[in-house]
Amino acid sequence: MNNLVELENVSVSFVKKKGLFGKPDRVAALSEVNFRLAPSEVVALVGESGCGKTTLARVVTGLQKPTSGMVRYKGKDIWRLSKKEFLEYRRDVQLMMQDSYAALNPMRSVEQSLIPPLLRHNIAKNHRSAREKVVELLESVGLTPGEQFLGKYPHQLSGGQRQRVCLARAISIDPKVIVADEPVSAVDVSLRLSILNLMSRLNKERGIAFIYITHDLSTARYIANHGRMVVMYLGRVVQTGNVHDLLANPTHPYLRALLSAVPVPDPEISRKKRMVQLRSMDMPNPTNPPSGCSFHPRCPIAIDKCAQVVPELRVLNGSEVACHLAEEGTKWSLVDHYQQS
Ligand code: SF4
Repeated sequence: MNNLVELENVSVSFVKKKGLFGKPDRVAALSEVNFRLAPSEVVALVGESGCGKTTLARVVTGLQKPTSGMVRYKGKDIWRLSKKEFLEYRRDVQLMMQDSYAALNPMRSVEQSLIPPLLRHNIAKNHRSAREKVVELLESVGLTPGEQFLGKYPHQLSGGQRQRVCLARAISIDPKVIVADEPVSAVDVSLRLSILNLMSRLNKERGIAFIYITHDLSTARYIANHGRMVVMYLGRVVQTGNVHDLLANPTHPYLRALLSAVPVPDPEISRKKRMVQLRSMDMPNPTNPPSGCSFHPRCPIAIDKCAQVVPELRVLNGSEVACHLAEEGTKWSLVDHYQQS
């Protein structure tokens, strides 16, 4: 299957100024990231805050030009597209932000926010048919009856309703990809599942591919049930593969640490569960990232080589993992090692 979106060795760094006279720092937000997304695929992108997830979302949606590397859409370098092709690409690849309140103009009603894109992209011929289309869209994202929501302003909607309006706006121009950056983190827990189910339905019914960005492994597993998971740490991909293979066989120590920290509702199981003991709880300073494997200052099984050589992604047990000890780890059971530590 041809990929819709491909990132090849993409790096992004930012310059951080230090006062008036200080020497500016360079922060590497992404380092040589390779990523692909097939049509109708769902990929969950997982990692802690500051690991580069949002930068990757901005790169994929064309809002951030990489410092080096290539971003392709349907096989073409997006930064060499003609103006017309770039506009088509921006229409096909939509970003859904975490903060639905910031994503919607507070001075505009739902109708005023949703009608202009339909007219601009010639999806509706006139204001009347655009209004009918908006009602249809609102109902397709579960805001029924749609007419009742047309005149509402963002502050008159709940967090879940605002995210649905954002989804309605994203799908209104018939996108091929939606990059959803932590779309349910600001939504009431009781409503999260309904938003995730809505996204799954849009994926199945309209064939929209999703990149679901989160720090929450449970929602990642839920949404990417038939898809892939990409785990990032400090700007690099550390493990990627089919979501079930990855969770059944988390060979990277960072993914194991994330999994061990997921709370279990059953107190009996929770008591028996052992946390992976990291050597440090602090994320390294991104302006001065560790040498070699950037996880080595925290990794409980790091060896000397880890501080010197950056591990490359390699295939192991069906997934790709960037760890010098991942292979050996599957033989002598990382779980035992962790349980002893
Ligand atoms: Fe740990 Fe070394 Fe693997 Fe990095 S390469 S995750 S430091 S064992």
